[in-house]
Amino acid sequence: MTLTVLDHPLAHDLLSRLRERGTDPAEFRSLTRRLGWLLVIEATRDLLAERISIETPMEETKAERIAEPLVAIPVLRAGLGLLDAVTDLYPDTIVGYLGLERDERTLEPRDYYAKLPRMDGRRALVLDPMLATGGSGSAAIAHVKAHAKPTSISFVCIVAAPEGVARLEADHPEVPIVAGALDRELNGVGFILPGLGDFGDRLHGTV
Ligand code: URA
Repeated sequence: MTLTVLDHPLAHDLLSRLRERGTDPAEFRSLTRRLGWLLVIEATRDLLAERISIETPMEETKAERIAEPLVAIPVLRAGLGLLDAVTDLYPDTIVGYLGLERDERTLEPRDYYAKLPRMDGRRALVLDPMLATGGSGSAAIAHVKAHAKPTSISFVCIVAAPEGVARLEADHPEVPIVAGALDRELNGVGFILPGLGDFGDRLHGTV
């Protein structure tokens, strides 16, 4: 498993603004989209490409075109914040949706909504901004594996906690994680510290 944490001044700047308590939902969405671009670029660094010949106005030359399209799977509802970043950069992306909630009896995540397309020949990007305990992230990846056969699966998040990284490493060691930051720890109720609070609430203005 590989954890890649963005190391770029723009990523640090965007993340610090996302973390700030006073950032309103409009700004929060815009910052998420911009940080999402950097995350998606990193998560697709090794996409398969094919060599082709093209004609410039001057002569024929060799060029590369992407040969591994994407399927984006935002985990509802916070994952919706990262979807535009994927489709901005890769307009041919197809999209599946996964809604997960915690089962009050077992405390394990349970899917309440799933609409996943065929994924043959595509790389799946599972989008879930806060990798906290790793329960929903792991369940989302398991759901994708059970449903479809993408070429590979990558997990994209904005903030990861060590506990969530360890859980994904244990459950899905072949899935690379791309994160904007690796934070210190979880608190007693599963929030990331220092974190940025409830991502879904801040994105959707439902605080
Ligand atoms: N989900 C959030 O939105 N924030 C956290 O800190 C942890 C999980």
